[in-house]
Amino acid sequence: MNREKIADRIYRTFDDAGNVQSLSVLCNELLAQQTVSWLELGNAYRALRGVRLRNVHCRGFSVRLIFNPGRAVNTTASVGPQDIRERPCFLCSSNLPEQQKGILYRNKYLILGNPRPAVPSHLTLASLEHRPQGIVEHADDFLQIAAELGARWTTLYNGPRCGASAPDHLHFQAVPSGLMPIENEINDKKNLLPVNRDHGIRQYLGIGLGRDVIIIEGEAAHTVRDALCEHLEVLKKKAFPSEEEPMVNIMGHFNGESWRLLVFPRRAHRPAAFFKEGEERIVVSPAVMEMAGVIVTPMERDFDRLDAATIESIYHEVSLKYN
Ligand SMILES: [Zn+2]
Repeated sequence: MNREKIADRIYRTFDDAGNVQSLSVLCNELLAQQTVSWLELGNAYRALRGVRLRNVHCRGFSVRLIFNPGRAVNTTASVGPQDIRERPCFLCSSNLPEQQKGILYRNKYLILGNPRPAVPSHLTLASLEHRPQGIVEHADDFLQIAAELGARWTTLYNGPRCGASAPDHLHFQAVPSGLMPIENEINDKKNLLPVNRDHGIRQYLGIGLGRDVIIIEGEAAHTVRDALCEHLEVLKKKAFPSEEEPMVNIMGHFNGESWRLLVFPRRAHRPAAFFKEGEERIVVSPAVMEMAGVIVTPMERDFDRLDAATIESIYHEVSLKYN
């Protein structure tokens, strides 16, 4: 990645040098500016207003289905090593469309409007360096970003083999908080099984939500990070001993006092039905937003026919049981 080229890309800068506006306000301004000055993003947001939505009530939880043909590129992305090697990286700043600008965040990330928003106000936070996606090494960044975006945003991470459409380029996403069904479902204590309360950390397993989720809450970033890394180590030993990191999707939120992380352990990237042909194919590719209860499909046929039993079965197939 060529750092000299970044100067052309900067809409605003956010660092320790006396920011007048909060990061959240800057991000909203960026999106407002980009939807006007960058035609592709303006069109994507206009298209988003017309998407079809449907809530499906499953056993113990619910999901929101979204029919969004604009997300086909993400849902069907080829992310095998050869496909990745052979395409220009769309998160490297030298390959961004000319009108795309971002917020230079702490001289480490460029915060960008996601060109294919799944929800209104969808950000991508791309590392300035072209380096592999991974959470352990960058967990401190993830927590700091969640804290500095503030309570109105939820920060998202997709593991390189379970949802990241650029597994070769470190990135996070952020969306307005409260849009994803699981964010409300875990406020109901009956859905939480307490597992640990040591060192100022509160940890739970989600129960009856159709997929396993680990919940970590705490006021100190380093203890939240350490708890996350311990869970990742357990998952790695359990199912992925030869991999760099276990398959996980992560959501992070900071309410002004404490962080809350949701970690979804995964055993498969896509359900078997994704790989079938013809009528049997279901074009759903679960990443962090799907695990959080927002299921995006680019196919109207799937939007119309997905029912509670099929959705429960997809979650069962792609989730890893934690204990
Ligand atoms: Zn790159």
